[in-house]
Amino acid sequence: MPANGRTVHIAGAGIAGLTLALALAKFGVNVVVLERNPALSAFGAGLQISPNARRILDRLGLSEAIGARSFEPQGIDVYPFRHGQPLVTLELGEAVRARYASPYAVMHRADLAEVLHAACKRFANIEIVFGVEQLSVESRDGGVLVSAPQLAAIGRSGEGFAFVGADGLHSPTRRKSLGGPDARYAGRLAWRALVPLEATRGLIAPDRTSLLLGPGYHLVAYPLPHRGLANVVVFSPARRPQADAESRPTRPDLPRASTRDPRLSALLSLAGDTWTAWPLYTVRTGDWHRGNISLIGDAAHAMLPFQAQGAAMAIEDAAVLAPLLATSPDAGTAFRRYQMARQRRVTRVARVSRANGDIFHMRWPLALARNAAMRMGGAQSHFRRLNWLYGYDAEAGTSPGTT
Ligand SMILES: Cc1cc2nc3c(=O)[nH]c(=O)nc-3n(C[C@H](O)[C@H](O)[C@H](O)COP(=O)(O)OP(=O)(O)OC[C@H]3O[C@@H](n4cnc5c(N)ncnc54)[C@H](O)[C@@H]3O)c2cc1C
Repeated sequence: MPANGRTVHIAGAGIAGLTLALALAKFGVNVVVLERNPALSAFGAGLQISPNARRILDRLGLSEAIGARSFEPQGIDVYPFRHGQPLVTLELGEAVRARYASPYAVMHRADLAEVLHAACKRFANIEIVFGVEQLSVESRDGGVLVSAPQLAAIGRSGEGFAFVGADGLHSPTRRKSLGGPDARYAGRLAWRALVPLEATRGLIAPDRTSLLLGPGYHLVAYPLPHRGLANVVVFSPARRPQADAESRPTRPDLPRASTRDPRLSALLSLAGDTWTAWPLYTVRTGDWHRGNISLIGDAAHAMLPFQAQGAAMAIEDAAVLAPLLATSPDAGTAFRRYQMARQRRVTRVARVSRANGDIFHMRWPLALARNAAMRMGGAQSHFRRLNWLYGYDAEAGTSPGTT
């Protein structure tokens, strides 16, 4: 498809920015991605990629590359506090493929970023500029003017049709260009670790995700076999975000009751002092765009990760926004339609994510009622509850049996 003459600048080469770049390039739009880091970031740990996101990535031609670097868990073992056996195993694997014609996979965030980056490099109409500093943008009649010393150095004028801030949680585009709010600390920390897969033998099933529920905390663990690792993350409350916690390895600080769960204690010990604490923040703003500037991904709507959907929503955003930017008469119209198409769904997903946190962390006696409901719900209860989420086709805007 020939380039249609439009140039879209994107701030940020994360999952949102790179997916949008690919999706736009397929419509023949010229894309310039401006990334603050000097190289593609290898940060992060495991990501669950649900079928609503995967079907978009597959249509972008990434099925094989993602398949080679991801793993499809066969189910989710749910262990309530101190249970030796799972209360229920929620089906994934073939059951997901059969229902949604797309898999549910887990992979390292850096692997997904690399797959997206490699695909972008095959397009002559995508340019990715790393190490960009002093980025600024001005919306003007008919387009934008982007400036950064690195743009001038490669001989680019900075004029474009639109600018999209895919610059994450603390997005300068949201805060400075759109005058939007700061991200809000959610009162929780995610403690993340990658441990040798071999060491988890006997603690978690090697072919499934494990979810350990406890009073005031929960743990998620799943295998990343192509890296010989297991991803382990524990969520717990913390009054303060602990400045610079990301760079300070230490051990999870959990409610005292957690020491009475032997499986949890064993998993915590496996990672020793290699844990990193990630303060969890959310972003809520009704203003995703102004003039010819807009937001995508965490910059627009960072949410709690308790439904594992932040990156999935960024991928869906990209799939919806790209055709609008390629075909709408002007960027403002594209951005209005994009926000209308996306905001309700993203708000609903954020609400479900927050509610999961409350449900997973229930204490006695509410936890007993929760456990009974989970057991009665059976192995397919998540499909019934989340059909609207996993079955959604962002490009078509439809979901089977939407409820
Ligand atoms: C513990 C945890 C577990 C999670 N698990 C899942 C999961 O299983 N599944 C899922 O779908 N989601 C999950 N998420 C959410 C997911 O990680 C995020 O929603 C997703 O990575 C957001 O992608 P993004 O591209 O919007 O932002 P980011 O990944 O933050 O990328 C933003 C990019 O913008 C760049 N940038 C920032 N400022 C500037 C600037 N001024 N100029 C240029 N570039 C700039 C940054 O360097 C970065 O490269 C999880 C999150 C956490 C915290």
